[in-house]
Amino acid sequence: MSRRLRREEYTVGWICALPFELAAAQEMLDEEHDGLEHDGNDENLYCLGSIAGHNVVIACLPASRIGNNPAAAVAMWMRATFRGIRFGLMVGIGGGVPSAEADIRLGDVVVSQPHQTFGGVVQYDAGKATPTGFERTASLNSPPQILLAAVARVQANELRGRSKLSDHVSKLERIPQFRRDKAGPDVLFEPTYNHRGGQTCELCYTDRQEARQPRKSDEIVVHYGTIASGNQVMRDGYTRDRQSSELGGILCFEMEAAGLMDGFPCLVIRGICDYADSHKNKRWQPYAAGTAAAYAKEILSLVPTAKVAEQPTIDNAMYRGGVSVSLTEAELISILADLARKKGDNLYWDQSIVDLLKLLRLPSNLEARKLFAEILQIHVGSLRTSIQNIALHKAILRKLAANNRRIPPEISICYACRESGHCAVNCPNKCYACGELGHWAADCHNKCYNWDKFSYWAASILPLSKEVVKAVAGNTENGIGIIARLLEHRGDEFNITEGVVKAAAGNTESGKEVIILLLDRRGNIQITEEVVKAAAGNRRSGKEVMVLLLDRKRDEIRITEGAVVEIARRFNKGVMSLLLDRRGNDVPITEELVRAAAEN
Ligand SMILES: [Zn+2]
Ligand SMILES: [Zn+2]
Ligand SMILES: [Zn+2]
Repeated sequence: MSRRLRREEYTVGWICALPFELAAAQEMLDEEHDGLEHDGNDENLYCLGSIAGHNVVIACLPASRIGNNPAAAVAMWMRATFRGIRFGLMVGIGGGVPSAEADIRLGDVVVSQPHQTFGGVVQYDAGKATPTGFERTASLNSPPQILLAAVARVQANELRGRSKLSDHVSKLERIPQFRRDKAGPDVLFEPTYNHRGGQTCELCYTDRQEARQPRKSDEIVVHYGTIASGNQVMRDGYTRDRQSSELGGILCFEMEAAGLMDGFPCLVIRGICDYADSHKNKRWQPYAAGTAAAYAKEILSLVPTAKVAEQPTIDNAMYRGGVSVSLTEAELISILADLARKKGDNLYWDQSIVDLLKLLRLPSNLEARKLFAEILQIHVGSLRTSIQNIALHKAILRKLAANNRRIPPEISICYACRESGHCAVNCPNKCYACGELGHWAADCHNKCYNWDKFSYWAASILPLSKEVVKAVAGNTENGIGIIARLLEHRGDEFNITEGVVKAAAGNTESGKEVIILLLDRRGNIQITEEVVKAAAGNRRSGKEVMVLLLDRKRDEIRITEGAVVEIARRFNKGVMSLLLDRRGNDVPITEELVRAAAEN
């Protein structure tokens, strides 16, 4: 029987893009683990297991959605769902760039390693393929140090003839598709000679092939250096070589890594399946996916598990545990694209400032754009010019990314008073609920604030006063969701007062779930007279709440004397006997208690 681990126990995130890459990854697992309960928001599907003592999460890009942006989205969810991940591996196929310096053959492996000015991966089409006007990204973050150290060990083992790479590859031989002899000949044509059509190169002239010495054995050679990542498939020998020389020497082209490097520190491992020219076909793909997966296994087997445990998690390393989270450009773009898809608006938000503002539900007329330009200090042309619009578009995207996709306060316009710089919920001028001056909507004494519709958005920007937390705990409509997120992001500010527990106990729709959340994250809840009264008044789920509270360990829950009497008075024998059963020693049998029980 396979094991089921806790989410936090997974330390390595492995991302791949194609089904046969996923299959190769799974074959490399020493042990497969049972799946975990699915988190409703997370669209990824995960395969879990272990390699060389490391617990590994594998996720594959959704079918037919390859490229940098989907990769960024998959990584973002993985990072959010598996908080213990220390580093990532991006493993799959790529198009090789054979050159005088690097004699790359099909089935070889290319690994991202910092070289000259680049950190290992360079996004060569930034600004071209993503028309959002982001500047060309010269270089992305380097792979994490712990993986570069392991790369050095792998290299040393290779030199000493101790590499296990071929052993790992042979694990795949039992699956016919992954066998090298299924892949066909390894032929490289002159860069300027184009494919003459057909599935294979049968029609292509053999005299236009590059003359290369055949390798003496089937050994897999590993090349280290720069990988070029872009959103379009590279399929032209001439362009391939030109790009490579412009960038100072590229080993391989692929389509996902650029979406990952800045939000998901990882090592990129590519098995070479073609030469990124017009002759490319799919025949080497499975075998090449296998050699890449085998290399990933080799790397993991040389990373000490104890060292991994010492590493900060990706979240901590990137954000140092703070509340402010900034997104990478690729993450933001994928979020906005999702938003546009869900809203079904036909907006060119990625090109037009007006459409971007519409997508964000911000005012988009000339007046508003003038205001935004003032606030963000964007003055590169007069107001209606496209150069000004492009600059403003870029600036707003940058602001959104820096503010974790939330609209930053300085560009939001308050709809209560129409001033910029704050949201209506904390408008200093006017309460948007009642329109009066001098108080916030959240503190509105006229009680017109609709707490049931209280959104996470509102909760995330309000100061977490006692009143606000109480309102959320008692929120029957979406209290659980809001509390879960508040505990996660603003746990330090979250005080579980008596009022909060009372509000949760009285929450007819989701009282039980809210209490479970509070207990899971905090423990230390006190059952007071007031809490019991609130639960007793909750006809729908009050009894369940009481049973839940009484069932917990005694170091998590304290019961006051008054509460015991109140339980005897208001709840039936079942609840009372549960109390005596679990907490018999804590319950002083007073005269008052006996009377209360008798009256019930
Ligand atoms: Zn051809
Ligand atoms: Zn205002
Ligand atoms: Zn008011």
